[in-house]
Amino acid sequence: MIMDIREILNSPVEQKIFENREIFIKRDDLLSDEFSGNKARKFYFFLKNEFPQVEKIVSYGSNQSNAMYSLSVLAKMRGWDFEYYVDHLPEYLKSNPQGNYKYSLRNGMKLMVAKLKPKREEIESDQVIFVEEGGRQEEAKEGVLQLAREIERWKKEKKIGKLHLFLPSGTGTTALFLQQSLPNSIQVYTVPCVGDSDYLKWQFNALDKNHMNHPIILEPKKKYHFGKLYRESYNIWLKLQDEIGIEFDLLYDPVGWMTMMENSAIFSSPLLYIHQGGLIGNESMLVRYQRKYSENIK
Ligand SMILES: *Cc1c(COP(=O)(O)O)cnc(C)c1O
Repeated sequence: MIMDIREILNSPVEQKIFENREIFIKRDDLLSDEFSGNKARKFYFFLKNEFPQVEKIVSYGSNQSNAMYSLSVLAKMRGWDFEYYVDHLPEYLKSNPQGNYKYSLRNGMKLMVAKLKPKREEIESDQVIFVEEGGRQEEAKEGVLQLAREIERWKKEKKIGKLHLFLPSGTGTTALFLQQSLPNSIQVYTVPCVGDSDYLKWQFNALDKNHMNHPIILEPKKKYHFGKLYRESYNIWLKLQDEIGIEFDLLYDPVGWMTMMENSAIFSSPLLYIHQGGLIGNESMLVRYQRKYSENIK
């Protein structure tokens, strides 16, 4: 294996000031160069356990997904084939591979273009692992539980009573499994970045019917469409680098930070933001930002 499993244990927490507010940051982006932080947690189960019979891993989703890239790394490490289904592949990307797409191909990903998403029951077998879009499945629990234990240990060391956690959601799997694994003294807050609050609630319900385990959903003042470019998203991304010296991802984190800062008043207890990685995706996002605003932005 390329990566020792211990590398992805126990990411550091840093204390920062942003817009005059103290915020702790859990640096899951530092877990591994190869994996996006959040996906290292979600795919921990597949990294840690032995699968002697498995030969192939199959998944589906968007053509620039962080999960796609992380699965390509996993497959390469384990010597598995990797098939990934997308419903379309733009000509532009096909002739100019970049970002997650480019690096996934380099890792040996076999891209399948099909209108319909593949069905688990037709694919899964003793030799083939099927992974839902974005890793939204029970297996993600093991790695997220590990993250929960790290946060609890840190909170105890810091002698913090009540703690607020904030992280932006795609499928909401990480936020939900975190809240499920944490005691009442730690409240998880999140914001939907893909779809709206109803979609996120629906996702939470699909994973856990017990509403007591659901994170609190906050909404940004304005509606942001996933993957679209916004001047204010880029601005806060830059400001974060200037003020606290950390690069965040350009898809989830700008909406995360904007929403968290807009709601700053409700966080009366210490606040911990989870940096979930995803920096490889910034490559293609920055190209788009440059094209859109045609100026030198990095
Ligand atoms: C995948 C990802 C998310 C979303 O995680 P979910 O568990 O699907 O909510 C957030 N941030 C980054 C950087 C990601 O790669």
